[in-house]
Amino acid sequence: MQLLTDEIKRKMISRVFIFFSCLFVLGGCMYTDEPMPEIVHSPSSESRVIPPRVIKPEQGWGSAYKNIPGNWLPPLQLEKKWVAVVIHHSATEKGNAAIFDKLHKEQNHWEGVGYDFVIGNGTDSGDGQVEVTFRWRKQIPGAHCGGTSGNWANKDGIGICLVGNFCYRVPTARQMQSLLKLVRFLQKRYGIPRSRIYGHNTTPGARVTACPGKKFPMSRLKSMLNF
Ligand SMILES: [Zn+2]
Repeated sequence: MQLLTDEIKRKMISRVFIFFSCLFVLGGCMYTDEPMPEIVHSPSSESRVIPPRVIKPEQGWGSAYKNIPGNWLPPLQLEKKWVAVVIHHSATEKGNAAIFDKLHKEQNHWEGVGYDFVIGNGTDSGDGQVEVTFRWRKQIPGAHCGGTSGNWANKDGIGICLVGNFCYRVPTARQMQSLLKLVRFLQKRYGIPRSRIYGHNTTPGARVTACPGKKFPMSRLKSMLNF
């Protein structure tokens, strides 16, 4: 009898112990003095802004872009992703980047010459000389191909102007050599296929124009591109 009573006592003590243990644990959870973790503003967790793709110059700069003038490469911190090339003629016999710059400022009230590159014909600059304009150096939109949806051709297309009027004559051989080199460089750097190398008059959405002239050898140029 005494044994039974002891057994009952032990069980009761054990149950009371378990009961208070549970209370302690619950109480510990509910009334802890530890402060709640604060939600701290963290810019990295707020919105995942995908940075623009940084195009790094290929190692050594020499092998991949052999004999490419240094000023064809825009400042890396400004460089943007270009998607197309638009080729123009100046529709004049003579000219160079400075002359077109003055003309576009005075006649069109633009910030300056509308193109990114101007390729001379030996009149006011060297035959085949490639001039790089402020638009390319600053990587800002051009003013060379109006009328496209959202102005995409000016914003995302690279404007190249060859001096001359190709409604009446063909570009010089040196102009075409320089153009080919420049277009190949731009294609490689920005992954632009030949299907997005346009003449002004074949740029999707562009206003009707004769530019770059019916004598401009567009299909021949395209046949000489690598992709
Ligand atoms: Zn044009």
